[in-house]
Amino acid sequence: MAAILDGKAISGQIKSELKAETEVFARARGRKPGLATILVGDSPASQTYVANKIKACQEVGMESIHQPMPAASTVPKVIALIKKLNVDPKVDGILLQLPLPGNADSTPALEAIDPGKDADGLHPYNLGQLFEYKSWAEMASGKSPLSCTPHGVIQVLLRSKIEVAGKHAVVLGRSKLVGKPVAMMLQALDATVTMCHSRTRNLEEICRQADILVAAIGRAKFVKPSMVKEGAVVIDVGINRDEAGQLCGDVDFEAVKDKASAITPVPGGVGPMTIAMLLFNTLQLAKKRTEK
Ligand code: NAP
Repeated sequence: MAAILDGKAISGQIKSELKAETEVFARARGRKPGLATILVGDSPASQTYVANKIKACQEVGMESIHQPMPAASTVPKVIALIKKLNVDPKVDGILLQLPLPGNADSTPALEAIDPGKDADGLHPYNLGQLFEYKSWAEMASGKSPLSCTPHGVIQVLLRSKIEVAGKHAVVLGRSKLVGKPVAMMLQALDATVTMCHSRTRNLEEICRQADILVAAIGRAKFVKPSMVKEGAVVIDVGINRDEAGQLCGDVDFEAVKDKASAITPVPGGVGPMTIAMLLFNTLQLAKKRTEK
């Protein structure tokens, strides 16, 4: 049976470190780091995600500046709010909750966020920075925010003392949100990385070669034991519902857990790490802004 990589516990540890660092920041600067959350509309899922982010922010002693907007708000209106927050001295990080109502194109709004206040690490400038860094030390130095879910994956590996250098990491999925940045981060940690997607041939065979398998495709229980090498480390980013309506990942956890050496569960794996890394970015951005 694989070791369960407990993202909830690891994120709790990161949050307590952040709480201590936030106190030091607040004492030295006379203010708390501030995270602005923008929620357009009233999608119940987005409301829950934002509520969790606000709660986590308060737990570690950061200032939460919540900005709800009506569902009918146009992208230019969202951009106008972002521009106000960009120059608000109390705001260190800005998070625009996605998707926008009606799946409106969020790209212009994300691009309007000051890269120096990009709490999600999704601004094209910050994503582009990933190409610049030559090592993990440089990537993690706080020069630019790292996108939260991929960084959460990396922290699970690092804090679980899983060796990455020289290992073959296979990343399932090539999205801008998860697959591409996590592959860049694994490379920075000296893994040899193979990226797979919906057009990959011999997917099973490639996955079976992975020492570390990261699944981020959004397909319930897609990864079966036949795709996993004995003793591999399996990181499941997926958040899906199975046929019974139960929350599950991209990995068939029950079937794979006996073959892997370590595995993240869903829920309680990568999910909680995303919020912890959002708070991490907010503090880093606050420190960087006040150093200027
Ligand atoms: P996405 O934008 O839909 O991208 C999915 C990727 O998976 C695409 O690159 C796609 O390939 C690939 N793919 C889809 N079906 C495949 C298949 N059968 N075989 C191989 N590759 C396949 O999704 P995402 O935003 O990256 O999210 C992925 C999953 O992670 C979702 O379940 C999402 O809910 C979850 N997620 C979780 C968190 C968290 O906090 N834990 C955060 C973000 C996302 P093509 O490029 O060829 O289409």
